[in-house]
This record gives sequence, C-alpha cells and structure tokens, in this order.
Amino acid sequence: MSRKTADYLDLAKAHQMPIYAQPPLVVSHGRGSLLWDTDGREYLDYSGGIGVNVLGHAHPAVVAAIAAQAARTIHTSNGLHHPGAIEMATRLGTLCALHKVFLCNSGCEAVEAALKLARRVFFDRGQPRSKFVAVHGGFHGRTLGALSVTGQPTYQEGFSPLLQSVQFVPYNNVTALQEALDAQTAAFIVEPVLGNGGVVAPDPGYLAAARRLCDDVGALLIVDEVQTGIGRTGHWLAHSSEQLQPDIVCLAKAVGGGLPLGAILANEAHSAAFAQGVHGSTFGGSPLACAAGLATMQEISQKNLLAHATTLGQTFRGMLLDLQKRRPDILEVRGRGLLIGLRYRSPAKPLAIRCRTLGLLSTLAGSHVLRFFPPLNTTTKELERCVDILALANS
Ligand SMILES: *Cc1c(COP(=O)(O)O)cnc(C)c1O
Repeated sequence: MSRKTADYLDLAKAHQMPIYAQPPLVVSHGRGSLLWDTDGREYLDYSGGIGVNVLGHAHPAVVAAIAAQAARTIHTSNGLHHPGAIEMATRLGTLCALHKVFLCNSGCEAVEAALKLARRVFFDRGQPRSKFVAVHGGFHGRTLGALSVTGQPTYQEGFSPLLQSVQFVPYNNVTALQEALDAQTAAFIVEPVLGNGGVVAPDPGYLAAARRLCDDVGALLIVDEVQTGIGRTGHWLAHSSEQLQPDIVCLAKAVGGGLPLGAILANEAHSAAFAQGVHGSTFGGSPLACAAGLATMQEISQKNLLAHATTLGQTFRGMLLDLQKRRPDILEVRGRGLLIGLRYRSPAKPLAIRCRTLGLLSTLAGSHVLRFFPPLNTTTKELERCVDILALANS
C-alpha cells in the first residue's frame, strides 16, 4: 500500500490533471502544526490546508467527533433532518447574528448561493436586479458565478462569457464604490481582508461605509468570510471589529474542521427567498462535516483560542517586523490575527521553495506575498522556528 515519495510523484504525474503547483513532497500524516512526508521528513506546516486547519492536524477532539459520528451516520442527504445540521445552523446563526442558514460544501458553493439568494430576493419583490459589484483583487472561488465576481483576470481567462453585469471597483475605495452602486445593484460582495489577493486589510471604516452605501441604493451586502472566518483573524468573524451587519455572510474553509462544509447566513426576511425547492445540495451540511465543524468551534471556545490567536498574532507580527529590519527585501508585514502576509520586493516563489526545503510550509497570495496560516493553537516556539527558517531562507 504505502510507497516512497518518488514512486508517488511518478504516478501523480501520470494520472493527475496538472491543475496544481504542488511541491515534490507527499504528505503522510500530521499532528498539530507539524507534518511528515512519505519519506519521513518533518515540516512546520503553516500552509494550514489553505486556511482550513485552524486546529492543526489530527486534533484529538476533532478526530473523536468524526469517529463517533461516522459510526452513527456519515451521510443522510437533506431529505432528512439530522442533529448536526440543526446544531450547526443554531451556532452559526448566533455567531453571525443572522439566524437563517443554508449549508453547502465549499467556499465557491457558498458564494454561488449568496449570489443566487440576492437575485432571488429582488425577483420575489417583483423588482428584479441582476447587477453585482465586486472588487479588483478579490477572490470568491472557481465556479462560473463565483469566478464572475472574482476580480483577477488570470482566473477568468478562457471561460467567457461569465455572468454579465458585474462591475469591479478598487478595494478600500469608498468613492469608487459609491459611484458603482445603483438601483440595479443586487449586491456588493467583499472580503473583510483580501486573502488570495495578497492579505490586504482595508482601512478601518471601509466595511461600515460599504454598509451605508448599500443601504442608500437598497443593495445587499455580502461579506465573504470564507478565508477569514472561524477565528483566523482572532475573531470569529473578521468584520466583527467594525460594528456592521452584513445581509449575507459566506463561510467555508475552517468551518468544517477539515471536512467539506460551507454556509451562507441571512436574516429571516431575506432567507424567505430561498423557499422550498429554490436551491439545494446533496452533500451540503453532512452529519460528518457538521460534527467536525462543531467540535472545532467548541475547542476554540473552550480553550480561548481567539484570545490566544490575537496575542500570538501580535507576537508573530513583532518577530516579522524585526526580521524586516534586517531584510530590506521585505516591504511589508500584512494581515490580521494569524492571517499574515509578507510582501517582498521580488517574486516570493523562490523563497517559498527554499523555506520548504528547510522544513517550513507556507502559501503564496499573489506573486509577491508569502502567506502564513498558523493553527490558532500554535505556540511561540513554533512561531520562532518559522521566523528562524525564514531568516535562513532569506539570507
Ligand atoms: C478559498 C476562498 C473561496 C473559495 O472556496 P473553495 O472552497 O475553494 O471553493 C471563496 N472566497 C474566499 C474569500 C476564499 O478564500
């Protein structure tokens, strides 16, 4: 059954579509922040399953919850009620102060559902609106609808025609947003921190201003918390530092505790537009994914990991700012909580490769930004190890 890395890589090359830029390592197993490959090499994994693994690998509480649920039911379909989906809906409703949920399997599915709900709200009023406003540099997923509001031309190339009537505006620019929003706009969709687009946090007040501008024209505000939600920034939701109520919140990545789960949340009035049969998903909100997600959120609460992530985020930022003083090719330390990016003067990919060969896994967010997703339960020692490797790779 188990092969050596080189054999796996030969098979991967022969049989997998060449969609992903994967480094030549094959994961065997992980524990917390650490990961081992099939040749037994150890890595500090701050690639975090691209923002999914908020508790790191193989967290005992999550493993136990998955095992217990798997022994009961793995899948039921949404033709039947099950406790996991109901508990998840209740918990996320409170978290977002939006008490109606639709569960799906991924970020792009959450975004698709959000766009469809927004249009359907206006359709049901007898005043259809089709237009969406989105931001340059934003990322909302790869399905055709989500791709249509993703403001990065390289992802869109070759897939036209996408959704018509999407207008893009610069991120963090209130005037441009005001000019784009009009009485045809169904919704403005925005990330509270640009994740994939380079770990860019907007100025304080931007999201609140977006809320007011949407209200002025009666458009819905969709906040895409797929990457930022469930503790990543030291809050359950990144937008909660700004005192605003979105109309729709999108969640995925961390919300399923490593299993495929996505969600949108909306208020009572808007959610009426998702009446019986209007939308759906076979797998969405499976018992297994809900069990893993609920165990993850419970662990975050019980161990006070939001506060821990906030503190360690400041520690990490401090260490990186120190490193920046010694390494002038680092232009900026960006991010919130434990969503951290380093912007480099030159493309960051060679550095990411050197880090990996030295035992540190990271991700790229655009060409010049190295992005880290430490688990919320990481330690100061592990952060030091990360910065030591960075310094070595950067020298
Ligand atoms: C990752 C991501 C998505 C897409 O999620 P998938 O699960 O890959 O479909 C959407 N929005 C944001 C902000 C993301 O970071």
